[in-house]
Amino acid sequence: MSISEKDILQALSHVDDPDLHKDIVTLGMVRDITIDGNNIGFSVYLTTPACPMKEVIENACRNAIAHFISDTATVKINMTADVVAGKRKTEVMPSVKNIIAVGSGKGGVGKSTVSAGLANALHQAGAKVGLMDADIYGPSVPILFGVENAIIEMDMVDGKELMRPVDAGGIKLFSIGFLSKPDEAVVWRGPMVSSALKQFMNGVNWGELDYLIIDLPPGTGDVQLTLVQNLPLSGAVIVSTPQHMAVADARRACAMFNIQGVNVPILGLVENMSYFTPEDQPDKTYKIFGEGGVEKLSAEFNVPVIGKLPIEPALMQDSDSGNIRHNKNVKNFIEIAGRLVQQIAISNAK
Ligand code: ADP
Repeated sequence: MSISEKDILQALSHVDDPDLHKDIVTLGMVRDITIDGNNIGFSVYLTTPACPMKEVIENACRNAIAHFISDTATVKINMTADVVAGKRKTEVMPSVKNIIAVGSGKGGVGKSTVSAGLANALHQAGAKVGLMDADIYGPSVPILFGVENAIIEMDMVDGKELMRPVDAGGIKLFSIGFLSKPDEAVVWRGPMVSSALKQFMNGVNWGELDYLIIDLPPGTGDVQLTLVQNLPLSGAVIVSTPQHMAVADARRACAMFNIQGVNVPILGLVENMSYFTPEDQPDKTYKIFGEGGVEKLSAEFNVPVIGKLPIEPALMQDSDSGNIRHNKNVKNFIEIAGRLVQQIAISNAK
């Protein structure tokens, strides 16, 4: 019996995307089918290269072919991705598929560290990633990536002069820190901040990006509100430590994304400095800043906790020395990025 394309699609229609709860054929994820005798080939286009379900889906495809067509066929599957663009105003940064804001109610909880860690993890998964440091009061992205002295060059794009982002091992970075002298931004007033940030949005040559992560200024004042209202965000991530005071401020940040006229989906909460495990006592965890607050927030706003990061002295050292890209615990960020992209895919599919 010869195998047809229809047989393959029929078999693969039994494979569901575990996040989207629909089969991968209906979702248009199966493409480029080839059949040569007993050799079957096809591509599965995931919604993101950082999909943590990649292996599960590939195995399910193999099982479906074996079960419904032939268990002696040679199956070659190309697991690839076509990042789905968020539903947003396309006139602003049309070549950026998803803009994700990372916010916090309080400074110093690790918002920039998480922004940088997520950007790095998504880049390592194969996504095209940019990171915009909008934390005008304390731009730390240039330090995290060791590019404090970068000089901004200009590109001509369609007759418009645009600032070229700084390349950090393939991640495109832009920060107000590249344009101002240290300490200068601290005295900026709200309207100046807003107009500078607007220039950021329209004046940087981001090019094609799957994800642009925006490290927001901490807090929930006018500046933050203007920013989240004007950016075509796919969603937001809120970072908090377990400390009671930080959680109370994070609650205000969640509320800001929920208010009418903003309505940005909160994709997940990240609890940073969640616990400490001494290197010489790997089975011990110390909850130095308390516990339970972020879970409470999660229940209150009906948003998932997408990660908990330990207090890790090496992360602090790598951040300070501009080595965040080479932090040895990148797997923590890969896990969080995996849950984030799942939430983005679910939100975009709604
Ligand atoms: P924010 O952007 O919220 O102000 P940062 O990301 O700049 O916070 O982090 C504040 C400080 O805490 C930095 O020195 C950073 O290196 C450190 N830090 C953040 N997260 C961790 C962590 N999980 N373990 C150890 N140090 C951390």
